[in-house]
Amino acid sequence: MSQTPPSDGVSGTSYLRGQIVRELEAAIGAEYVSTDAADLQAQAADWSWYSKYLAYKNLEQPAADFMVRPGSTSEVEKVVRIASDYRIPVTTRGGGSGTQGGTFAPYGGIALDLSRLTEIVDIDEESLIVTAQAGIDGPTIEKALNDKGLTLAHYPGSYHLGATIGGFIAARGSGVVSTKYGKAEDQVIAVEVVVPPGRTITTLPVPSHAAGPDLLQTFVGSEGTLGVITQASLRVDPLPEARGFLSFSFPDIFAGIEAGRQIMTHRLRPAVIRLYDEADSQKLKDWVGTPFTGTLMVIMCDGTQELVDYETRAITALVEGVGGTSLGPDVGHTWWEGKYEPYAKGKLPQPPLMYGTFDQVARFADLPAIYSAKKKIIEEEFAQYGARYTAHLSHWYPWGAMLYDRFYVDEPPADPAEAMALHDRLWDAGILTGLENGAVLNDHHGVGIKLGRFMRTQYGDGFDLMRQVKETWDPDGIMNPGKLGFGPPRNSKW
Ligand SMILES: Cc1cc2nc3c(=O)[nH]c(=O)nc-3n(C[C@H](O)[C@H](O)[C@H](O)COP(=O)(O)OP(=O)(O)OC[C@H]3O[C@@H](n4cnc5c(N)ncnc54)[C@H](O)[C@@H]3O)c2cc1C
Repeated sequence: MSQTPPSDGVSGTSYLRGQIVRELEAAIGAEYVSTDAADLQAQAADWSWYSKYLAYKNLEQPAADFMVRPGSTSEVEKVVRIASDYRIPVTTRGGGSGTQGGTFAPYGGIALDLSRLTEIVDIDEESLIVTAQAGIDGPTIEKALNDKGLTLAHYPGSYHLGATIGGFIAARGSGVVSTKYGKAEDQVIAVEVVVPPGRTITTLPVPSHAAGPDLLQTFVGSEGTLGVITQASLRVDPLPEARGFLSFSFPDIFAGIEAGRQIMTHRLRPAVIRLYDEADSQKLKDWVGTPFTGTLMVIMCDGTQELVDYETRAITALVEGVGGTSLGPDVGHTWWEGKYEPYAKGKLPQPPLMYGTFDQVARFADLPAIYSAKKKIIEEEFAQYGARYTAHLSHWYPWGAMLYDRFYVDEPPADPAEAMALHDRLWDAGILTGLENGAVLNDHHGVGIKLGRFMRTQYGDGFDLMRQVKETWDPDGIMNPGKLGFGPPRNSKW
């Protein structure tokens, strides 16, 4: 139930706020509309370091003015219609597990919470496609599929933190088995989306066609800036009959990258390849108890027993051929069993520690230089702050891989403005060094508010075209303003 909005006397804004609340309540029910400050703060918060730091310092999250929890696509439509009429922002929230400040509402408006849209609409066992509402979380949809011998095969580190299928698609997510099963963009078949000024569209029933440019993929990675994904159809896979684990050590990370390249360019398809540098292997040991530190590669193959046997044999031959030393299956198995352990309560890094995860992606040919340059700039340019750098490569493609690299500063400045400035300087150094050496901004965490400032550098003149698409699609700029570098809302009298 919403509270009376804070009064600012008899001003027009106060009157207007009351009017908007009443319209939202009429559209979706008073119990699903709130202006309570605690609700609004909770809606804005995510897992970005900045959000966690604000909470740690008892500072406010950039929050919306109204929170709504619609129960159907037609109610989402009504909310977007009201937002369009008043030209106020709409910031969609899935599970709030994002790390880029995507749920911040720096321009206020409506926080749109999808936690009531959790139905599984259909499991098409013939075509292996599941259709569900966007607010369903990973474990819930996975359980329903497992009961039928199927899997979504999308297990992000945030699997137990509430991440939703809408969030997977909106932020181009990936999971630990994405090397074989693909990222959200490969798994999505179709979406239903509410777009401004409040109408619902559905993309084609299949994702591969020659019927012009791809509307579906325009929504993938759009992070709520083009519309609200209310329902999605996703490819599912049969649960694997068998899993086989391998692990290897290497003299250095570059030998490990070459081994990964050999596996992928020989077109083998293990579900998991994780290559840790020495510092990250130490962290893994502390977190999950893997009994090895140094350059470490963990591999998992799955499918029929015959396929697993073939792939594990072929991969062992390739990796040993480029200098890898087999450590047997146990290290890989220990990692698999403990894979969510680093994300367990109390284990995740948290302020006052300062940290950031770049997750950039690049071609094989560019990866060694990117790793070296980023490690150097973080460790040398920020030596006075004791900055540490760790990295692993955990999503591999036929042409390259994702570098999940992190910085840590154990004792950042106590003053929030100074801490934020250092945080942003570290991000500038890491991202721009990556871009200069051929990397792409990031692989699967999305852009949000945090990385929006790099979009023009990333795309060059292409970014103007992207902005024009956004402006045509959403002329008032009300859909998640401030994200993806698309700037503030336009024409707003708010
Ligand atoms: C510890 C940890 C580990 C993580 N590991 C991974 C990982 O392995 N792989 C990975 O991909 N990500 C990972 N993430 C990041 C995050 O969990 C993913 O980006 C996830 O897909 C976000 O889903 P969500 O539902 O929580 O989205 P939210 O955080 O709610 O939203 C993220 C962005 O998407 C928009 N959005 C959400 N739902 C919709 C919708 N239905 N329609 C339109 N826009 C929408 C929001 O407005 C926001 O901009 C991790 C995060 C944490 C904290």
